[in-house]
Amino acid sequence: MKKLIRSLGLLLSLVALTVIVSACGSKPLSARNVYQTDKQSKTITWGVKADTRLFGLLDTKDGKIKGFEVDLATALTKQMLGKDAKAKFIQVTSSTRMPMLKNGNIDAIIATMTNTPERRKQVAFSNTYFYAGQSLLVKRGSSIKNVKDLNREKGTVLGVVGSDSVENVAKVAPNAKVLQLTDYAQAMTALKSGQGQALTTDNGILYGMSVQNPGYEVTGGTFVSEPYGIAMDKNQTPFRNATNKALTELRQNGTYDKLLHKWFHNVKGFDYKEAAKE
Ligand code: GLU
Repeated sequence: MKKLIRSLGLLLSLVALTVIVSACGSKPLSARNVYQTDKQSKTITWGVKADTRLFGLLDTKDGKIKGFEVDLATALTKQMLGKDAKAKFIQVTSSTRMPMLKNGNIDAIIATMTNTPERRKQVAFSNTYFYAGQSLLVKRGSSIKNVKDLNREKGTVLGVVGSDSVENVAKVAPNAKVLQLTDYAQAMTALKSGQGQALTTDNGILYGMSVQNPGYEVTGGTFVSEPYGIAMDKNQTPFRNATNKALTELRQNGTYDKLLHKWFHNVKGFDYKEAAKE
């Protein structure tokens, strides 16, 4: 009996120790000073898209994610922490970016994420780094030329889970049916296979798809403003201030414009002034 009590006691202390150790290892994000730990490690961990040409797209040849946001995050990292600092990239999608941030897997999200009042209840945003607008992508020659046609024809519009585009289009074209896919690669495949008459998201993302698929065009102008901000935990004010300062410096020293031109020069009619709006 005594032996049993002793082993039970040992087991209980082991359990207690495990609980204490794991609690120390996983400090909640709100209790961490992200900017301070990043300065010490000279690394910032960014959540980026890997399915979005021009912003963040996985190059299967070398396994690297490439795009405007990846380059901007790299430039921001060096501007904030010094030339020898490293930007680390973790793939996110429209639906995984928020939970990944909340779980502390990433320090910040730079992934075509619009700064909206709804999202500001959960996270803080940097100043705007890309000013997009929601639009439609259709097959060339389609009878759908704008969102009104989509509504009138009661068409099916494709979008991505976790994007605000699906909610916006449901409001603007209430007669249309919205089909939600997991990411933009799947949404484009669905458009090509005729599962919907149009794909909706931001014009910049749709331009990337039309560059890759010349049989498809962006149409109808923009119907909702989508200013992109870098999202971070609400308690990380030093990180947010440093990000905004670095962003202003990159705009002033010409790096921002250079990157915008590097990624969007192939897009016919791309409005640099509009995209660079703050
Ligand atoms: N900018 C929109 C959003 O934040 C659509 C693009 C995306 O899915 O990331 O939801």
